[in-house]
Amino acid sequence: MSSTFLNTPIEYLKSVGPQKAEVLKKELRIFKYSDLLAFYPFRYVDRTKFYKVKEINADLPFVQLRGKIVNTKMVGVKRTQRFVATFADETGTLELVWFQGAKWIAEKIKPHLTNEYIVFGRPSIFNGSFNISHPEIDLVSAENTTFASTLQAVYNSTEKLKSRSLDSKGIARLQKSLVMLIKKNIPETLSNSILERFQMLSREEAVKQIHFPQNPEMLKKAEFRLKFEELFFIQLKLLKQKGLREKTFRGFVFSKVGDYFNNFYNNYLPFQLTNAQKRVIKEIRLDMGSGKQMNRLLQGDVGSGKTLVALMNILICMDNGFQACLMAPTEILANQHFETISRLLKPLNINVGLLTGSKKVKERRLIHEQLQSGEMQILIGTHALLEDVVQFKNIGLVVIDEQHRFGVAQRAKMWNKNTQSPHMLIMSATPIPRTLAMTLYGDLDVSVIDELPPGRKPIQTVHRFDTHRDRVFGFMKDQIAIGRQIYVVYPLIKESEKMDYKDLMDGFESISRAFPLPKYNVSVVHGQMKADAKDYEMQRFIKGETNIMVATTVIEVGVDVPNASAMVIESAERFGLSQLHQLRGRVGRGAEQSYCILMTSFKLSHDGKLRMDTMVRTNDGFEIADVDLKLRGPGDMSGTIQSGVLDLNIADLAKDAQILHAARNMAIELLSEDPNLENPENSNIAYQFALTNNSRTNWSRIS
Ligand code: ADP
Ligand code: MG
Repeated sequence: MSSTFLNTPIEYLKSVGPQKAEVLKKELRIFKYSDLLAFYPFRYVDRTKFYKVKEINADLPFVQLRGKIVNTKMVGVKRTQRFVATFADETGTLELVWFQGAKWIAEKIKPHLTNEYIVFGRPSIFNGSFNISHPEIDLVSAENTTFASTLQAVYNSTEKLKSRSLDSKGIARLQKSLVMLIKKNIPETLSNSILERFQMLSREEAVKQIHFPQNPEMLKKAEFRLKFEELFFIQLKLLKQKGLREKTFRGFVFSKVGDYFNNFYNNYLPFQLTNAQKRVIKEIRLDMGSGKQMNRLLQGDVGSGKTLVALMNILICMDNGFQACLMAPTEILANQHFETISRLLKPLNINVGLLTGSKKVKERRLIHEQLQSGEMQILIGTHALLEDVVQFKNIGLVVIDEQHRFGVAQRAKMWNKNTQSPHMLIMSATPIPRTLAMTLYGDLDVSVIDELPPGRKPIQTVHRFDTHRDRVFGFMKDQIAIGRQIYVVYPLIKESEKMDYKDLMDGFESISRAFPLPKYNVSVVHGQMKADAKDYEMQRFIKGETNIMVATTVIEVGVDVPNASAMVIESAERFGLSQLHQLRGRVGRGAEQSYCILMTSFKLSHDGKLRMDTMVRTNDGFEIADVDLKLRGPGDMSGTIQSGVLDLNIADLAKDAQILHAARNMAIELLSEDPNLENPENSNIAYQFALTNNSRTNWSRIS
């Protein structure tokens, strides 16, 4: 079934000579027919619609007009020479201007009382009135009535392409000559039953329609078909990997809930678990008892109590005779987890260790020994845990906190810490939109904590301009007077690190002046401090010895100081939405009313304003993530997550959630009926699947 047509080198296409071929390859990576066909338009202009001259405004990217030429003239000499034609309809007149080919066009276009022309182009303002330079212009005549009666595709182009006359129109011409060659030579990739179920166009029809749509309905159908197909094969791949992993890699069976868990649960649990926590603990427990190796993402908004969920499952792990570890992305966070967990487990007499980069060699050696002998039951730490010297006697569960900071490869390392891979629980507080999660983590099981512990009051967020700083300081003093603590956060962006550092230190100074000793104590923490100095300052704040913590985003993840009930974010317009949400999650952890004050300059971009408004409007992480996705697009959101699955050609995760759901459900259904794609009815799918999945990387082992 392999298609020789689709694999034809692009130079074979009529009017693509070696020079055009070269620039197509270099600029667009178009090597063969299939590549050109998959170079989809990025938008369409509606050539079915006609505007009147009077209706033209600056917001219209293109207009199509119908009327007469009432006057023409040649203006200027030599290089500045241009041809100007005055176009008129019953509502007004407009100038059409040609700088290039002026002579040639002057021959073609003459003022005429009855001849009608169709003009199409981009209006721009010149000397206070609209004109169109280099419009397309056609004479309306008896034999020429079919012109431009459809949606016209617009393609991205580049300077280099344009220099080979491959602007949008040039590319459209190539597409036209290629589409003319299509005749039952584009293989179908989906099964008949899927095509029927969704009333989809065949692949062949969809490809034709995406470039040359007959009408808006057909275009919609073509888009649906191609988006569905793209998302479907990604989901199929993720789900197949998951299935393969479950078949191939057996997991430790944690069959019982024993004394550690029960003792802690009945006697030492500091509060009632929320229903969401209970449900999720059970999901994880069942998964770890099932015989397959768990690969689970635990999603929960900041403050939802993920740590406790992790701890309860660590206790189950120990009940079954295994060791567990918890890895955090920063030293501060690792310390904090260590303290929380040591405190909670104190009555149970469990050996908990802490391993971070700043541990002395001697201490490390001791930890290594205790891990290997099995004496140390729980190890908490940073990526120092990944090092090969860190070997366990029998590790059964790896918990990774704040997953987005770790790369895929690092996680893969933890797989090899036992003869059989330990269970993996990945905790993320970045509420990524569901569409993104499905695509990025489509091969993981997901548990969601969708409920905050009781008694939390929603954080009140306000947006203030820099000019109101005095009033903000006044508010801070009131908060301190009633015993609260406050974070003041400054941006830290890699590219402007030096300037940010200066801003931070300036801010620290001005705050120290406004909040002087001995009445007030102010801490400062930033990235250029040594780990132990940072930790010392952090601890002072955690213990309540300082009233204000001035910091860069190092406090972004995980830090938990329930008495800190207010946060002031400086230059808030420089943060992304998800980061603002993360930061804000540092407050609102106690029972007190908490506040978040977003400070910006008066001048705000449209997006900046939207970000502030969104933060003020809602505390819902998923809602915020959705706005973020719409503002930034999925490519930018992946952050440190390495994943080719986001290179989508036509589907858009911000817009195509419904299609994604349909595609994923279809893939699930298909695999449950025909896990190996052996049914002849699915042969198209099997073939296409094999074709698209001969990539070198084997991600199947990586969660
Ligand atoms: P995150 O999900 O952001 O990691 P944490 O695990 O740090 O959240 O928990 C946030 C705070 O909520 C902590 O102070 C924790 O002790 C507290 N907490 C967790 N679960 C509950 C609960 N069920 N009831 C009351 N407080 C809880
Ligand atoms: Mg946490």
